Amino acid sequence: MKVMKFGGTSVASAERISHVADLITATDEVKIVVLSAMAGTTNALVEIGHQLMAHHQHEALTILTKLKHKYEAETRLLFPNPQSYDKAWTLVNETFFFLEQICYAESFTLFDEKKILARGELLSTAMMLRHLTDRGVQAIGLPALEYMRTDKQAEPDEGYIRTHLEELISRAPEGTRLFITEGYICRNAFGDIDNLQRGGSDYTATLVGSVLRADEIQIWTDIDGMHNNDPRYVDATRPVRRLHFEEASELAYFGAKILHPTCIQPAKRHGIPVRLLNTMEPSAPGTLISMDTDKDMIKAVSAKDNITMVRVRSSHQLSHWSFIGKVFSVFEHHCIPIDMIASTETSISLTIERSQLPSEVRRGLEQLGTVEEERELTIICVVGDMEWENIGFEAQILKALEEIPVRMISYGGSDYNLSLLVSAADKRRTLLALSRQLFGAACPG
Ligand code: ASP
Ligand code: MG
Repeated sequence: MKVMKFGGTSVASAERISHVADLITATDEVKIVVLSAMAGTTNALVEIGHQLMAHHQHEALTILTKLKHKYEAETRLLFPNPQSYDKAWTLVNETFFFLEQICYAESFTLFDEKKILARGELLSTAMMLRHLTDRGVQAIGLPALEYMRTDKQAEPDEGYIRTHLEELISRAPEGTRLFITEGYICRNAFGDIDNLQRGGSDYTATLVGSVLRADEIQIWTDIDGMHNNDPRYVDATRPVRRLHFEEASELAYFGAKILHPTCIQPAKRHGIPVRLLNTMEPSAPGTLISMDTDKDMIKAVSAKDNITMVRVRSSHQLSHWSFIGKVFSVFEHHCIPIDMIASTETSISLTIERSQLPSEVRRGLEQLGTVEEERELTIICVVGDMEWENIGFEAQILKALEEIPVRMISYGGSDYNLSLLVSAADKRRTLLALSRQLFGAACPG
């Protein structure tokens, strides 16, 4: 069994939806297809929510009307036959009716906001299911709101997901080979509608694939796999053919936009390969993420923006071990993840993904020592087979940075990455310099 997830651009229009329908019906094996909302939809829904929070009903309705026109046009194209169109539009229009009701309501809560956000994926799956029916293909919907759930820590509840998903599948008619489900949306521990954060459809796919022990999880996007550098900043980047789970997680966490940052974890835990493929070029090999990888090489570079560095110098009343522990507890208390760390006997520097150090955290840290903060930084993450016995990679990376001021370096946290902290203004030239030095002669791939 395979899980195939299609992102927003892959289902961005009637034409794209029909192309995805071709892809998912091309072979006979059992498939669970996870769909994102049509590109632009979630952004529009987020904006409607913001406007309603700010009591800007008129603005919210303007965005909604524009979205409705787009769906009307795409529904017409996807269902050229007038009878099918009527059926499909009745279905799609229910959502717009629901959204209008919310816009006209007197109050607007965070619960309403989550309900609005869920509509994008509900729409794309409903349209796909109808389209498949029109083609005479038997496909069964697996409503995500009936099986996808997070626990009280807002982490996916894999036990719940497995039992409920298996139960839904077992109710499908004998011999069903194609299942369609919504990405991104879920219920929280209290049963309210929620989501797995932006880009969360990838996470739905890896969770579904993991709990059902799929043979493979495919993530279909509009690019031919994970590239060895950021194509927005560096020309001539190339797809990396194979990555270890750890390498892919580091890249996703440190800025490679192609994957949701935590989606690799369930697949890694259960050893299920994840393949990144391109809807626009289905025969391209893409990137295979698994336990195996090409040894002895650097694979890729990525960048994570909006980083603030914090340095705390101990006020000397504390022993080193208790000083470090107390610094970490301040961040734990405020639920702020730390990315990079460097320490000396009397001070510790670390980075957080924030535009500045929140004042309540600063107050907590000031109890422990002097606090310095530096903003507008970028983490550059170099990923590959960096086992410490492999010689030369660190030297090559540092050579590339001869001309660039480096704020902090972190190496040894895993066997797969070396991270550097530079000023955001130096991001582009750092990516270019690393590309030239590391991939100049031969790109991995
Ligand atoms: N539609 C959601 C988003 O745009 C989830 C996803 O596409 O993965 O973030
Ligand atoms: Mg995505």
